[in-house]
Amino acid sequence: MSAWPSDYRLAWTLAAAVERSGVGLHSGLPCRVRLAPSALPGYRVGWLDAPELPLRQLEPSQVCDTRLCTALKLGERQLTTVEHLLAALAGTGVSQAEIWVEGGEIPLLDGSALPWVEAIAEAGLTPLGERSEPSLPAEPLTVRQGLGFVTAFAAEERRLAAAVEFPQAAIGRQLFSLTLTPESFVREIAPARTFGFREQVEQLRQAGLIRGGALDNALVCDGERWLNPPLRFEDEPVRHKLLDLLGDLALAGLPRAQVFAYRGSHGLHTAMAAAMTTAITTAMAAAVEPSADSPTLSLAGPSPPVAGPPTPIPPILSI
Ligand SMILES: [Zn+2]
Repeated sequence: MSAWPSDYRLAWTLAAAVERSGVGLHSGLPCRVRLAPSALPGYRVGWLDAPELPLRQLEPSQVCDTRLCTALKLGERQLTTVEHLLAALAGTGVSQAEIWVEGGEIPLLDGSALPWVEAIAEAGLTPLGERSEPSLPAEPLTVRQGLGFVTAFAAEERRLAAAVEFPQAAIGRQLFSLTLTPESFVREIAPARTFGFREQVEQLRQAGLIRGGALDNALVCDGERWLNPPLRFEDEPVRHKLLDLLGDLALAGLPRAQVFAYRGSHGLHTAMAAAMTTAITTAMAAAVEPSADSPTLSLAGPSPPVAGPPTPIPPILSI
């Protein structure tokens, strides 16, 4: 595909189906994904090995684990590591698609969103007319957990920023922000790979996690140096944080907003996605029933902080 949409004003779906296979980050098992066009807004998941099960539209309420990736509970099944694929879809402007999965995990591929962007480019995009864009209320939303927080404001443009602080000198303090367009996403964010820390790799493997993690699909930090350079960007870690933030906000339909994530994590990002969905739903309900006494209007005034999810977040803040 030679050119991406210039902005997010239109709804787009894929022009054809496209498949990718690979190893799951946590299970280490092979997984397969087929992306297909969809006539309905949003992202809906079906199962290649059980096509009779109903397709489920993705939403923040399905988040069930955010320790190292974003995992969703879809009926009786669980689907993990959805964030890089969702970032690729939302970032390139694909507002609706079917995601057919074999295995319980989205393949990690090279640890970034780039292989998914290439798959989307291979399929091509089809415009579907004006995109219906529910807006956030005027009041800012904030979620916080420990020292980290995410704040979002309704805005004309989607503007994302992230800041990270790590004691490891190879990362240290990094800040990155951009006005999001499909082209800026593909150029600045999609290639940024997931990262982790050498001392935690063994601990996580023993916990049954990152069995599919390897030096060719995750940057590994060892204090002052990287075990597997070169980096694709000098500030690749914070750019990957923005990739993760975008993928998690895709669960809420990537509302038009200015968003800042300080020490972000999947727990915080998905809590913000849930807060956005609640705020949008509440505002729509209030618009339908404009009763001044209705408790649905209680969003007027500053929003209270939304507590983060109960899942404890380990010190490794990435992936
Ligand atoms: Zn990630």
